[in-house]
Amino acid sequence: MAVDTHCPYCALQCAMRLAPHEPAAASVATEPTYDDGGRAQLPVAGTPLDAAGRDFPTNRGGLCRKGWTSPALLDSPERLTEPLLRGGDGSFRPIGWDEALDLAAKAIRSSRSLHGPDSVGVFGSGGLTNEKAYQLGKFARLAVGTSRIDYNGRFCMSSAAAAGNRAFGVDRGLPFPLADLDQAHAALLLGSNVADTMPPFVQHLQGARAAGGLIVVDPRRTATAALTEGGAGLHLQPTPGTDLALLLGIAHVVVHEGLADQSFIRARTTGFEALLHSLNHWWPARVQSVTGVPAELIRETAHRLASGARPDAGGQATGGTYILTGRGVEQHTDGTDTTTAAINLSLLLGLPGSSHSGYGTLTGQGNGQGAREHGQKADQLPGYRKITDPAAREHVARVWGVRPEQIPGPGVPAVEMLMGLGRPGGVRCLLVHGSNVAVSAPDAGAVICGLRNLDFFMVADFFLSETAAEADLVLPVLQWAEEEGTMTNLEGRVLRRRRSIDPPAGARSELWIMAELARRLDAPSSFSADAGTVFEELRRASAGGPADYSGISYGMLDAGAEAYWPFPAGSVGTPRLFLDRFAHDDGRARLVPVSQAAPPEALNESGSLTLVTGRLLEHYQSGAQTRRVAELAAAQPEARLQVHPVTAQGLGVADGDLLEVIGSRGSVRIRADVTIGIRPDTVFLPFHFPGEQSANILTSAATDPLSGMPEFKSTAVRVRVLAKA
Ligand code: SF4
Repeated sequence: MAVDTHCPYCALQCAMRLAPHEPAAASVATEPTYDDGGRAQLPVAGTPLDAAGRDFPTNRGGLCRKGWTSPALLDSPERLTEPLLRGGDGSFRPIGWDEALDLAAKAIRSSRSLHGPDSVGVFGSGGLTNEKAYQLGKFARLAVGTSRIDYNGRFCMSSAAAAGNRAFGVDRGLPFPLADLDQAHAALLLGSNVADTMPPFVQHLQGARAAGGLIVVDPRRTATAALTEGGAGLHLQPTPGTDLALLLGIAHVVVHEGLADQSFIRARTTGFEALLHSLNHWWPARVQSVTGVPAELIRETAHRLASGARPDAGGQATGGTYILTGRGVEQHTDGTDTTTAAINLSLLLGLPGSSHSGYGTLTGQGNGQGAREHGQKADQLPGYRKITDPAAREHVARVWGVRPEQIPGPGVPAVEMLMGLGRPGGVRCLLVHGSNVAVSAPDAGAVICGLRNLDFFMVADFFLSETAAEADLVLPVLQWAEEEGTMTNLEGRVLRRRRSIDPPAGARSELWIMAELARRLDAPSSFSADAGTVFEELRRASAGGPADYSGISYGMLDAGAEAYWPFPAGSVGTPRLFLDRFAHDDGRARLVPVSQAAPPEALNESGSLTLVTGRLLEHYQSGAQTRRVAELAAAQPEARLQVHPVTAQGLGVADGDLLEVIGSRGSVRIRADVTIGIRPDTVFLPFHFPGEQSANILTSAATDPLSGMPEFKSTAVRVRVLAKA
């Protein structure tokens, strides 16, 4: 029987129909074709289910290569189906579930009694369903009693979340339905390569492209930057780490050339005078000297954005203007301030709070939005409540049936937790759910050392990821098409994930695992193993919070209702935020002066290049899943270092040569991809690969002081040839 659900991977959460595999259909063709919307669906031979795109506002029937091959994950020969315990000789042996859970509970109890509750750490994921993310936060705080919980979204959305909360009083990736973007006459995409990371998204840029208003800021000529060619827009290629200066320059033009929306600024914001003062010395010629972007392009960008946001000469409303940020500008030690500069620009132009313009951030992980709302973040409780807010603690404690003082206070951000593993005062017993930190965390070499220093390390996953391979105990869990639950996509729209296939015997749901461990730990609250029951509790816990889900039910989602949060009981939800007011007490958005800091590492030293990391079309996050899909692995079997031909010539590098990329924390060995699609002072490495190709061996654990976001986009490296092709 066919089941309607959503893709397991990114935050676009494309709608798909899963149906029993039809061998005859698989033989029709072997190569898919793609249009700009990524419309391509082919059954994949050898999988138990076929995936087909389903009409839905975000993907309109399209799936990317990752989506239509996703059923291959379900019967992968590498699937884990038994708990695995590491023996004295270092190898794993299968054990039963009772023994595994007893061991885990004993290790947690032992760590707590010897070193205190904060010696136990819990690490979650933006790939977990809302139910699992909610239950994980409750499990850590009540069953374990630790404040040490955080998740891999810290590496993904934390800067945008901090900036959104600071400016608007709340953070929802896109505070408007994605389809609103269709009519835009101008769209500024900052550090986001949607044509590779979420191809069906490109459909929503057609209006801006047709009007010549698509403006892409990226040091690389990505597939998205290429969409600006032929008169469709502009591609700005700043020096990595200077996005903030570029945004200040565009804002300078807006305020000094009469493009700002003064009535909006007066009516709906605070802080304009201080912002105006801070922009004074960022005139375009100066910004050109910092960023390398020609002053004329900076002016042209400001005018195109303003013209999209204004009525035309006849007084008719034009299609509108959208400013969208991605990881390219957010994953910096000044990521919060850079995102704030983008929000400031949008407010100066009067974009947020309009039904045909706006600012948004493009969430990356599948449940990157919902997973940061329901309590697995170190500083938050369910409903996107602050853990330090006494009223929030009282409300959540009431739902959990405990006293507020039984809920620990704020923990530490992910990178701080990972850098302290096994050290005095740090975490000594770690539980990881659905996250491959040995590949995805910054300074991955130091993280792997920390994992090896732990007293006890448990991983719940469905593959033996590079992180699981370091564990003492591995618990095999269900994956996307085997479980029920909800996800919240990049629009803040809550979606149903449905069980489409029976899980393999031996794998268990994480909800069940948490319930069983909580029972063994004598937790002071109940933990259900049923997703629907957990969602009902989540509804009550979130009621009254910024991310209020109390009016949403599985029944209404199953009936096809749209559900954007906040969705208080009795309401119809909130597709568009900020139409009347922003979420600060006075209803106004904040214009916050920010300035360009020095790059985190000494760039442009003699012989050094700036390493930028990012994603490929074929792979998702650490690649733990997509590297195990044959079609994707065949298309992109390894990482390659993008090098400009001029740089390559200077280094004596030819396409395909084996290179050593050397940073201050380690080195990797990688083949060269010589391309004009990158700046001569910059090299690019995808972060989906482990071991000798692991980009994060090179990146730094330095973090943004406001968000805890590490620096992934600006690392000083040197390159030398190890072997000619
Ligand atoms: Fe859609 Fe993202 Fe899945 Fe691709 S990976 S099919 S863009 S949800």
